[in-house]
Amino acid sequence: MTANGTNGVNGTNGHTNGTSSSSAAMADKLKNNRARRIVDDAAAGGYAIPAVCCYTLEAIIATVRAAEAKRSPALIQLFPWAIEYADGLMLHAAAEAADLASVPIGVHMDHAQSPEIVRRAADLGGFDGIMLDMSHYDKEENLRLTRELVEYCNARGILTEAEPGRINGAEDGITDTGDMEEILTTPEEAEQFVACGIDWLAPAFGNVHGVYPPAGPQLRFDLLDKVRNAVGDRVRLVLHGAHEDYFQEELLRKCLRYGMAKLNINGPVAAAWTKVQGELSGKVPLTTLVEKQTDAMQAVVEYHMDYLMSTGKADS
Ligand SMILES: [Zn+2]
Repeated sequence: MTANGTNGVNGTNGHTNGTSSSSAAMADKLKNNRARRIVDDAAAGGYAIPAVCCYTLEAIIATVRAAEAKRSPALIQLFPWAIEYADGLMLHAAAEAADLASVPIGVHMDHAQSPEIVRRAADLGGFDGIMLDMSHYDKEENLRLTRELVEYCNARGILTEAEPGRINGAEDGITDTGDMEEILTTPEEAEQFVACGIDWLAPAFGNVHGVYPPAGPQLRFDLLDKVRNAVGDRVRLVLHGAHEDYFQEELLRKCLRYGMAKLNINGPVAAAWTKVQGELSGKVPLTTLVEKQTDAMQAVVEYHMDYLMSTGKADS
């Protein structure tokens, strides 16, 4: 929330708590955090929540429309890029879309890679969760920063996600870790991060962002099982690097059986936008182009809701 309380989600909701009552209000907000509830329900129900990486307003609209059409909960995810590009504008649009939706939707930041961007994002108001990705620091520093930033986020009613180990590869808008050493998550390491107070854990068990080597995903389910046995009672497990080119129904269902309750969707949604742009740009009015892009992304999100089995879960 900004200093005058008029520019954040709390401001738009008409909450005008002064500083004296704001810490109690924030503790309440954390307890009733909608993103936490959505993902907890998925873990208990054996399905996963699509967390859709959005780069445009159309993607935000497409995610909400898909969720309402499929009666599925969902998460709108923004990269730090969205904040660097548009300050709070896209974030507050996402938060308002989530507030007004007829199904449960949360707003989450994916891969916040510096303490500065975490604090800036948390202060803007509008995020229900933030992923603290300090994986490019050495482990001691990673843990120290994670602990500090969990406290900062929680004090603002925001839950946190972290990545012990390192998930390699590149996503549009985040630093490429492809040339760094891949570090798989051990149960001991998972424990150390859980002790920092995180809510969601993104294990590295052979998953990578973007393109897999020719042999495809070589996932260490034995390791994932050990991590889950160690910490699964205290955190929810979330999956990065599950591109639909590699993760079809059988492999995804296996991930769900191992407790994955949130799955990031990035490339396929962005590709739908780009495809329509290539086909129709200059041939139809701009308003038509924007609407067609929204429709195309909605179809991709809906397809993912079906195979993550979140379809219909908003009403159950
Ligand atoms: Zn990721």
